[in-house]
Amino acid sequence: MPATISLEQEKNPWLAAETRFDNAARKLNLDDGMRKVLKSPAREITVSIPVQLDDGRLEVFTGYRVQHSIARGPGKGGIRYAPDVSLDEVRALASWMTWKCAVVNIPFGGAKGGVICDPKLMSNGELERLTRRYTAGIIEMIGPERDIPAPDMNTDDRVMAWIMDTYAMHVGHATTAVVTGKPMELGGSRGRKEATGRGCMIVTLEALKRFGLKPEETKVVIQGFGNVGGMAARLMAKRGFRIISIVEYNGAVYNANGLDIEALMRHRNETGTILGFAGGEDIDRREAMFLRCDVLVPAATENVITSENAAKLNCTILCEGANGPTTAIADEILADKGIFVIPDILANAGGVTVSYFEWVQDRQGFFWNEDLVNSRLEEIMVGSFDAVASYGSNHKVDNRTAAYMVALDRVASAMRLRGLYA
Ligand code: NAD
Repeated sequence: MPATISLEQEKNPWLAAETRFDNAARKLNLDDGMRKVLKSPAREITVSIPVQLDDGRLEVFTGYRVQHSIARGPGKGGIRYAPDVSLDEVRALASWMTWKCAVVNIPFGGAKGGVICDPKLMSNGELERLTRRYTAGIIEMIGPERDIPAPDMNTDDRVMAWIMDTYAMHVGHATTAVVTGKPMELGGSRGRKEATGRGCMIVTLEALKRFGLKPEETKVVIQGFGNVGGMAARLMAKRGFRIISIVEYNGAVYNANGLDIEALMRHRNETGTILGFAGGEDIDRREAMFLRCDVLVPAATENVITSENAAKLNCTILCEGANGPTTAIADEILADKGIFVIPDILANAGGVTVSYFEWVQDRQGFFWNEDLVNSRLEEIMVGSFDAVASYGSNHKVDNRTAAYMVALDRVASAMRLRGLYA
């Protein structure tokens, strides 16, 4: 990526995905033909979604589903509802899912979906009608053997239940394995809600071993106190980590001795904000990101670490809970600073791993207890961390490049073995 591009270009998700891909493909000596195949999304669909609004008007929304790769198994990836969804973004996210599933070696390809809408301005009924019509529009593409959607930004277990029901009405029988992230009553898996945060903690524990650090002496800053960040904070605090700051969109809280995370969660639930918490002091959210700490977990949103601020980071380990929190240019700055990066496609893969467990359980009609889910998750995350970190040290590349190389190699091997159907 040229160093002269604007900050806006630097934040383009497709460009970021392409830069990481090219870097790994070059180091793997992948031939041009395979590069072309691996880069091109296998299938894309754009659908117009007419929805009757509550006031009687008819509105038409636009939705996408992209299957980037189905070489190693059915497509897998979330569906997001947001006003700024674009085909470029959905494509980039779908390719990320391909590499993420490959890096943890679960038998899925990569896919993603999105609808351009503002769910905050829509009623429950409007959202349900939108979801059902979108599902009908992409129905040829999805299915337990084809492509399995999941929640993403602004979609949740309730939306998954509507998708499952719409699909079931079309095929004529209940098909729980068509989506993951479902309510427990409809075939959801135990441990799914905590899975991404738990995965972040597991890989952080593995990284700490490399620095001879114990959780009790490890200071952590977490950005985002939602599903990923909140769960990571809760589980890490239970494990003895000192969470010195939680950063949210409107400010941060700080306590040098470690925040009481359960009390902070209660405070946030009661007041609607983490600010004003008696067990810590409010600080500026920008300042909090640059506090001296052992582990920084960006778990909020993309592009928060850029060429403009990467030099100011003051952590030893960066565990990327969010998708794409670091731009490709910032990667180079982090490498110069010697920060040990656990890249997103590995660090936050706990979620898709337990989604895979959900799909397996649904297909078997046989459900596991939480201990079994957690121990299988740990086995996969530890194994994947080791595979990436040792690949990186053996080939003298940073962890992100190593993760992409491991993933690209697995997908390319699957494609070579399948051969070209012509
Ligand atoms: P979420 O909506 O539950 O939580 C996000 C939190 O971040 C919210 O509390 C929000 O207020 C806060 N936030 C938003 N913008 C912020 C900003 N600029 N600064 C500080 N805080 C900010 O979302 P989530 O499910 O926790 O997902 C977070 C990230 O992790 C996303 O990038 C998502 O794609 C990724 N991810 C999520 C999962 C999952 O299982 N939920 C799995 C893999 C990756």
